[in-house]
Amino acid sequence: MANKCLSVALHGGAGAKRARDYSKEIVHMRGVIEAARDRLTAGASAVDVAVETVKALELSGLYVAGRGASANTAGRYELDACLMDGAAGDAGAVAALQGFKSPIEVARCVMVETPHVMLAGEGAALFAAEHGLEPIADPKAWFTHAGTFEDNHPPGKLAHGTVGCVVRDEQGRLAGATSTGGVFGKLPGRVGDSPVIGAGAWADGTVAVSCTGQGEYFLRTSAASQVAFRMRFLGQSVAQASQAVLDEIKAMGGDGGLIAVDAVGNVAMPFVSEGMKRAALTTDGEIVSAAF
Ligand code: ASP
Repeated sequence: MANKCLSVALHGGAGAKRARDYSKEIVHMRGVIEAARDRLTAGASAVDVAVETVKALELSGLYVAGRGASANTAGRYELDACLMDGAAGDAGAVAALQGFKSPIEVARCVMVETPHVMLAGEGAALFAAEHGLEPIADPKAWFTHAGTFEDNHPPGKLAHGTVGCVVRDEQGRLAGATSTGGVFGKLPGRVGDSPVIGAGAWADGTVAVSCTGQGEYFLRTSAASQVAFRMRFLGQSVAQASQAVLDEIKAMGGDGGLIAVDAVGNVAMPFVSEGMKRAALTTDGEIVSAAF
């Protein structure tokens, strides 16, 4: 096994629509991948790079996560995120978190500082405050509304957006992370797949996965862990397993995409939606960044 090969992929959500111009996001994603490559080359761990990459996407305000998240029907911003460390088998997550700039940082803090995997709602916000994570002083000034309901609402479907990252570091460790504002027009308290380990993200010794799409379908198919189990128990490649999971979601009436990296650094980035903002550094050192 080539131990020196490092790979990183990110997504900015599978809610991309052909009518919109994503040139700004494509340039931004390339820059974020370059920064991730530099960190990995300097010896950073897969977990650190996954968190820093997702944080950069959250803080940019360009995607429907973190600063770019959309409000729920009550006008509040309830954000979801999760992280899994494939080498240690550890995970951390927050659901329906309000008031903090980087949900993925709070998820990492849950993983590192508590015996739990997920904190939700008020408890998650109290925990984040106690651990000194950066609060949002004024939500009206902070959120950028990167995606508007009108721009993103295909008839009959829940429009959505998310960010995520999967990494294989130089030591062969895998990590996956996902963060989202969820679907447009969601009810207060609605939690999608993104903070659910095994649905919105997964990492073990075989593969790291981050999903994006209509979360209800990814929850009902355990999408992220299903990729790993298909590889482990059916002997499928990362590309075959990823596509099979999305085919199942499409057959159920859902849409979306995912990014995945396997133990030797092969990257898969399939989608069954109109587009998926995505970028990756592949094992041959190439960077790709695209929306369709
Ligand atoms: N999966 C996210 C959710 O349902 C949305 C997305 O990925 O676009 O909350």
